[in-house]
Amino acid sequence: MIRDEKTSPEARNPGSQPERARKKKEMPGGLWMRCKSCEKTVFKPDVERLLNVCPECNHHFLLNSAQRVQLILDAASFEEFDADLAPRDFLNFTDLKPYPERLKAAEEKTGMKDAATVGVGTLHGRTVVMGVLDFTFIGGSMGYVVGEKLSRAMDRAAELKVPLLIFTGSGGARMMEGVVSLMQMAKTCAALARFQKEGGVFISCLTDPSTGGVLASFASLGDVILAEPGAVIGFAGPRVIQNTIRQELPDGFQRSEFMLRHGFIDRIVHRSTLRDDIAKILDLLLGPMPGHHPPAAPKEERGEGKGSKKGPGTGRGKANGSKGSSAKGASKNSPGEKSSKKSGKPKSAPSVVRESPLEGQAKDGAGRVAEKDAGKTRSAGSSNPKQKVSQTPTSK
Ligand SMILES: [Zn+2]
Repeated sequence: MIRDEKTSPEARNPGSQPERARKKKEMPGGLWMRCKSCEKTVFKPDVERLLNVCPECNHHFLLNSAQRVQLILDAASFEEFDADLAPRDFLNFTDLKPYPERLKAAEEKTGMKDAATVGVGTLHGRTVVMGVLDFTFIGGSMGYVVGEKLSRAMDRAAELKVPLLIFTGSGGARMMEGVVSLMQMAKTCAALARFQKEGGVFISCLTDPSTGGVLASFASLGDVILAEPGAVIGFAGPRVIQNTIRQELPDGFQRSEFMLRHGFIDRIVHRSTLRDDIAKILDLLLGPMPGHHPPAAPKEERGEGKGSKKGPGTGRGKANGSKGSSAKGASKNSPGEKSSKKSGKPKSAPSVVRESPLEGQAKDGAGRVAEKDAGKTRSAGSSNPKQKVSQTPTSK
């Protein structure tokens, strides 16, 4: 459960927590900023040019909802749903300060009424419903407005028969709404089940941090689960676990790379290729968009003939729709099938893309490297990660 904004990105390094907390204001107004990961001073315009990624250490800084939408969807294609839904303080809840004050401060800071932004737009011409949980709004926590917006987005995706993308940056359930916030876990899962039962394809993308009740509900139920490099992904944060069990945690505990190794996620995707990779995955699951060139098949890959064999060719020619059981079946098999044939290479996904993220979109083979990762994980015998996941909520 989220307590406040202090809960997460800093919690990744439990050993130096107080120090981290002091350095929390990592974005001064000037042209330079200190990277909280490598602690180097970096040139802000460079960071922005790299889509908010540290040029020194590849750390992925937070993106807010607007930046995320801009990154993923075709320009000006986003049409927001339910922007006016706003939370109320029905419990008269006060922790360090009253909940209404917290909401007001968050609204002033972000210009949003709550942490979720949902809507419809296009990605390389394909219509998708997209949701974003914005960590800058009370830690991206899920109260009843967030749960309601996401559930409606899921229903809308089912109605429109289009794929659903949700980008999670959240500390979990919103404790200021008590048990009502916990109910959102069940509500979103139920809406998602309706959507998936009709063959809808859901890609869950976990960004830093994705923890608590959000991870213990819809965020873990993607047909494909992607993560940005280095993101904290877990139910309880490492600090909480360490304080509870009073033991040192393994290196990189609950980061994306750790979760990939343990079969919890399918693939780590660098921000520079995220948009194209999602488009590619949707092409694989649903077939290519008619009249639309496959987005990110790198030239070398096409040269090898792989693109033509396994990419668009596996589709059924009709895009944009959930094709009942066929889409569903594809969503279970395609990525694993593809990646399992490419296993056996050492994993180094982020470092490959790292050199030139922006140019990488068109040129490099980063996607393929990441696929090898996924293949490795699958073949390493995580027989059914989702089974494990679906048990999480009940165990708490
Ligand atoms: Zn850095």
